Order: sequence, then structure tokens, then C-alpha cells
Amino acid sequence: MTPAFAPLSPNQQILPLTAETNSRGHLVIGGCDVVELVAQFGSPLYILDEITFRTACRQYVDTFQHSYGGDTLVLYASKAWNSLATCALAHSEGLGIDVASGGELYTALAAGVPASKIYFHGNNKSPQELLYALEVNCTIVADNWLELERLAAYAEEHDLGMPPRVMLRLTPGIECHTHEYIRTGHLDSKFGFDPQQFPELLRFARAHPELDWVGLHAHIGSQIFEQQPHLDLCIVLVEWLQAAREAMLPMRELNVGGGLGIRYIETDNPPAIAPWSKAISHHLSHACRDRNLALPKLICEPGRSIVGPAAVTAYTVGSRKTIPGLRTYIAVDGGMSDNPRPITYQAQYTALCANRMTAAATDTVCIAGKHCESGDILLPAATLPPLQPNDILVIASTGAYNYSMASNYNRLTRPAAVLVCEGEANLILQRETYADLTAHDVLPLRLTLTT
Ligand SMILES: *Cc1c(COP(=O)(O)O)cnc(C)c1O
Repeated sequence: MTPAFAPLSPNQQILPLTAETNSRGHLVIGGCDVVELVAQFGSPLYILDEITFRTACRQYVDTFQHSYGGDTLVLYASKAWNSLATCALAHSEGLGIDVASGGELYTALAAGVPASKIYFHGNNKSPQELLYALEVNCTIVADNWLELERLAAYAEEHDLGMPPRVMLRLTPGIECHTHEYIRTGHLDSKFGFDPQQFPELLRFARAHPELDWVGLHAHIGSQIFEQQPHLDLCIVLVEWLQAAREAMLPMRELNVGGGLGIRYIETDNPPAIAPWSKAISHHLSHACRDRNLALPKLICEPGRSIVGPAAVTAYTVGSRKTIPGLRTYIAVDGGMSDNPRPITYQAQYTALCANRMTAAATDTVCIAGKHCESGDILLPAATLPPLQPNDILVIASTGAYNYSMASNYNRLTRPAAVLVCEGEANLILQRETYADLTAHDVLPLRLTLTT
């Protein structure tokens, strides 16, 4: 099945592109009634809309291909939502996968993604992870000297057939306006090499021809609404590329990272995927032409803007607590374990009542999770129709950094996820069971004897 291409930019929509309201006043996503999905698959439930996911992938792939003039590759930054289904979906749209751990690498490979299209990031890859990456022959984005020394040593010791592909991640010193914890491009960051050391890096690379030095990488942060930082980054990368080529290292790939923001609330106004990608393509190709440099392969690695707007989380409404003159708390059956972003980054979201979409939003309430933390608040002030127990509350744009950051705090079982498309819903993550929760617990024998 190849769903129709939708013209809207998913990252500018709060709800998935297929969202509509049916005659019962229920929210419908991917042709599936959300209330019925919860009845069938349980609550809370992640609902991933295939058309929105595919549309975002296509907008990136098509725009880079049409605007750049050289080879391009879009990588899905899978840490946003790493699973067999999301990796397989991205791969089926022609994307490669960016992974940041052995576990993410394992999942991408298990989803059928060839290692030739996998890029392995991370500021502290373990020796085991490096060996795994070398064994499967994915591209390694080297982040520090320890890693470079280990890679050179392994490549000398083992006959790997082909020299391992290595990119260098540098910290470009570009400031952008986003939350401090998700900013990575400024010089004081745990990620990447200090550009001051670039000459030294080039000397190291020249001294180690047993590694294939494919190119350079930088990532300046996440949930970015300005275009300028990425355009500045293009220039910085091209200057480094020129220096590398002048130092007789014929690097051939530039990776501009990810970071394009999405609309979580009405006032968010990110650039659309296509014009953003086009501006980067043009800026990079012009910067290369100005310097008479053959065009490198342009790589971009969006995560949030591909999967974020494609999913919603459906919860069931439970208890209510009204503190007169102060606030009304409405509790749902999940919270910081399935969406840690509000408590971690003060992230804001939009909520809807999925079973009464046409009812007037007359109440302002605080949507609380069910965890034993006062800070477990999903939305401090949501405007909604008056909510009753068993209503289905939907929080939008939860595709990115929700499931992937989920925990079992308070031993809640992690939710199920379904992929919806044209009226069909496929389970892509099973709901955890209580037995799953103790599956890795070990009870030493002497503790069983004391009771
Ligand atoms: C997180 C990350 C991305 C993706 O960022 P988004 O904001 O989700 O697009 C890309 N590259 C690297 C190296 C990252 O760490």
C-alpha cells in the first residue's frame, strides 16, 4: 500500500495530517476512530499515523534531491522513536538510519536496514559498541580521541576487509535558541571535537589510512525554529571540508545534523520541511561552488520533525481534584513514564477530548499524570470541554522522544503502539505486562527462604 502524498508540512501541524472528526464527534486518525482504538488496544495508547510519517520523509528526500545538485541522503534520527516499525518505515521511504547506541543499531539492522545506510553516533561508544559497528560495517561518527585511537587500533589488529567508514563530529560554535539541555552546537558541549583541534585531527587522519575518512558532521541542537543557524553551519562545514581536501584528505560527505522544530502549541511557528531543506541545499551547493569544491554528498538527519507530529497519545481520564479558587487537576492513566518531556524540559503540548471533539472548550484544567511526583504534570493549563471519568484525552505531537524516553517508573507498564493507515490499525509495540516488569528481576535464593 502506498498512501497518497499529502501536501501540508507535517511539522507545522499539531495533529497528524489525516486527523478528522467523524459523525459521532470522535477524533479519527489514519481512518481509525481513536475511541475504538483505545477500546481495542487499551490505554494509554500511542497512535502513529503512517501518512504523516511518510509525508515528512518524502518532503525531506524529494526536496534535497531536487534542490542540491549532488548526492543526498536523509537519515532518520531514530532516537526520536527507535523501533522495528519506525526504522522499517523510514527505510522504505529511502532514508538511512542514525543510531546512537548498540541497541539502536541492533534494532535498525533487525528492521532490515542495510548497514551501508546506518550512521552510528554517540559521545561514549563502548569498546563493544565500536566492535559491533565495525563488524556490521556501518559508518561511525567519531566523537572524541579515545574513539579514534580505539578505531585505529582495531582496524590495525583485525582484517576488516574494507577500511571502516569514519566521519568526524565537530562542535561548530553556533548558538541557537532552544532549551539548554537539547542544545549541542555551542563550544561548551559534551559532543564532538573542538574545532581548534581540526589541524591535529587532519594529521591523525592522514597518519591512519586504514580508516576511510568519509566526511564531517555537526549537529547544533533540537526543536530549532530559526533557519539561520543551519545556514551558518553549512558555511562552517564547507570551510572545514576545504581544509581537509587541501590537507590531501578527499572527504566526500557533509552531515548537517537534524534539529528542525515542530508545532506543539498554536503559537509555535517552525519553518516547513521543504523550504528549510531547500535553503540548506542551496546554501551548501553555493558555498562549494564559490570555493571550487566538488559537491560532497549532503546528509541531513531529522528525527523530531519526521515522527513527532505523526503520533498522538490517547489516555483515559480518571480522578479529578478541584482546589477552589486555585486549580482543577484531572488525572490520566499515564504521565511522566510515557512522556517525560514536560517534567524534563518544561515541554508544552496540546490536548483534545477525543470522544467529544465538537463540544465547547469551556474549562481550564491541569492535566496530571498518575506518578508519585508532584511535577508529573502533562499540561499545566489545558482548555477543554468539561471532562468526565472515562473520557479519552489525546495529547498531540507525541511521536518524538516519548516512547523512546519512556520508563517503568512506579512500575507502570509501557503503553502499546499502533500504526494506523486508511482505516487499518497494526500493533507495532505490545503493551507491557506485569510479568514483563519482573522478567529481569532476580530473587536470590536466601531471600526466598526468609519468608
Ligand atoms: C538528536 C539528534 C538528531 C535529531 O535531532 P531532531 O531534533 O530530532 O531532528 C540528529 N543528529 C544527532 C547527532 C542527534 O543527536
